[in-house]
Amino acid sequence: MSAARETDPQLVVALDFGTRKEALDMARKVAGAAPWVKVGLELFAAAGPGVISELKAMNLKVFLDLKYFDIPNTVRGAVRSASALGVDMVTLHALGGADMAAAARVGRDEGVAAGGSAPILLAVTVLTSMGPGDLPVAEGDDPSALALRLARLARDARLDGVVCSGREVAAIKESCGREFLALTPGIRPAGSADDQRRVVTPARAVADGSNFLVVGRPITRAADPAYAAKDICAEMKASL
Ligand code: C5P
Repeated sequence: MSAARETDPQLVVALDFGTRKEALDMARKVAGAAPWVKVGLELFAAAGPGVISELKAMNLKVFLDLKYFDIPNTVRGAVRSASALGVDMVTLHALGGADMAAAARVGRDEGVAAGGSAPILLAVTVLTSMGPGDLPVAEGDDPSALALRLARLARDARLDGVVCSGREVAAIKESCGREFLALTPGIRPAGSADDQRRVVTPARAVADGSNFLVVGRPITRAADPAYAAKDICAEMKASL
């Protein structure tokens, strides 16, 4: 699959913008510092799939984070379409279960057969904005316990890895194996937080084995986004 599996942890800048122009302006600023950008729900609905080829033309790897959660046949088609767009990584919810995950893998194979990319398939465990007391399901009220259980489900369904909090990476790697990828949002330099709750610093995420660190506002709202991205990359490197 992707060469990223073999390499050092990589920074992904979340382009959470409501217009194509803002997203592309930010991508240009961070392109020299971060190898990946994330296209999420807000940008995809506002700018449409054309923004993906524009980002790819800047030599950026594209993480399409639409968090698929639907019946297997629909997710199969969604992954096939994402593959046709040439994206490098996509997300689906682990809560969708083994059949939905298997359908996603079939969709990827179909996309590749039709000349598309082979995106890394990651399962979302528990959103990093949720803390103890926020879970709508009973799991001892512990988001980390639920994340670990969902990670095992994703591993058994032969997905490539999970999206989880940096606080859960060490336990997930121990249980699912080092090859099983971990992508961690909720990354915050010491002292900042906002709506994110299960946060860790870049250094801690890397030390615990995270493969991809997704960072949005600490970079995109910085006075100098390129500098902020480089600073985080330096912290990541120092922690290796
Ligand atoms: O601005 P901030 O750094 O909080 O952005 C984090 C990004 O990671 C957002 O784009 C959000 O959608 C995404 N994300 C998350 N928690 C997850 C999955 C994705 O925060 N579990």
